[in-house]
Amino acid sequence: MVDFDPIQTVSVVIPVFNEEESLPALLERTQAACAKLKQDYEIILVDDGSSDASVTLITAAAETVNSHVLAILLNRNYGQHSAIMAGFRSARGDLIVTLDADLQNPPEEIPKLVEAAEQGYDVVGTIRMNRQDSLFRKTASKLINAVIRKTTGRVMSDYGCMLRAYRRPIIDAMLSCHERSTFIPILANMFARRVIEVPVQHEERKFGASKYGLMQLINLMFDLVTCLTTTPLRILSIFGGLLALGGFVLALLLIALRFLLGAGWGAEGVFMLFSLLFIFIGAQFVGMGLLGEYIGRIYQDVRARPRYFIQKIVGQRRFPNKHEDRT
Ligand code: UDP
Ligand code: MG
Repeated sequence: MVDFDPIQTVSVVIPVFNEEESLPALLERTQAACAKLKQDYEIILVDDGSSDASVTLITAAAETVNSHVLAILLNRNYGQHSAIMAGFRSARGDLIVTLDADLQNPPEEIPKLVEAAEQGYDVVGTIRMNRQDSLFRKTASKLINAVIRKTTGRVMSDYGCMLRAYRRPIIDAMLSCHERSTFIPILANMFARRVIEVPVQHEERKFGASKYGLMQLINLMFDLVTCLTTTPLRILSIFGGLLALGGFVLALLLIALRFLLGAGWGAEGVFMLFSLLFIFIGAQFVGMGLLGEYIGRIYQDVRARPRYFIQKIVGQRRFPNKHEDRT
């Protein structure tokens, strides 16, 4: 039995923020790559509040006759992931491919992703074969990838690359999440049943600089972690518990030594004060961790991610629907 739908249409979603130099080549190469597809396609360019000629270029591309391009202009800069979400909202394809506008991800790889998805994969991830980023970026993202793999148990080796493909049900699930800070590849994996990773090429940024400074990278990293898990809040309790336990053991040790070695040994109880201090600080951390547990649950509820998502319903309904939706 095949439990996935055939892919008849493909949407390519590209966030654009001040990429006027890359856009002409991007448009041409993406259109050429998509023309090779069996499926009908649309290219959705989301302008994320650019201040250069990007808007003009995008609108011109969308206004040409028989164009497959749809231009979506945001009123200001909201960040890459929000821009992609805006693109998802307008995308109509059975499969949605995301791509960076700076040509670091070659558009020629799109057919490869579509082919992989056609085998029934919900999410097609990518591994950058010859990653062209600074050493700092590479090590940082290796570290983060390892942490994610540990916490999710999902075997995905590269979350950083945005050249990815998602099937329609995954997109719908993501669109029904109410959270504001998202890291799309992780969010998608939460809803995916079958994922695959394909190797792709990676190129150096030819024009302009990366739009991510140190602060934005830190922000992105926190988005990524909080999108994934509330475990860091629990670490507070664990740390506090260990600290209090350490203080307690120290106190016992000090009392034992006091009886064995005499009153002069303990420096008049100074060390005892330390052990008390540890116990109280530890207790405070446990209290904070407890607060964290509540905050974590509040966060889960505020995000209101769909509790489940039906992939497909098979079979005929036997009774008419007399029970109208009552919510
Ligand atoms: N981008 C965006 N809004 C932003 C920052 C970036 O839409 O606020 C787009 C940008 O135009 C590019 C993609 O996101 O298409 C990736 O950005 P960049 O190449 O600067 O990131 P890096 O490759 O350094 O991770
Ligand atoms: Mg880039």
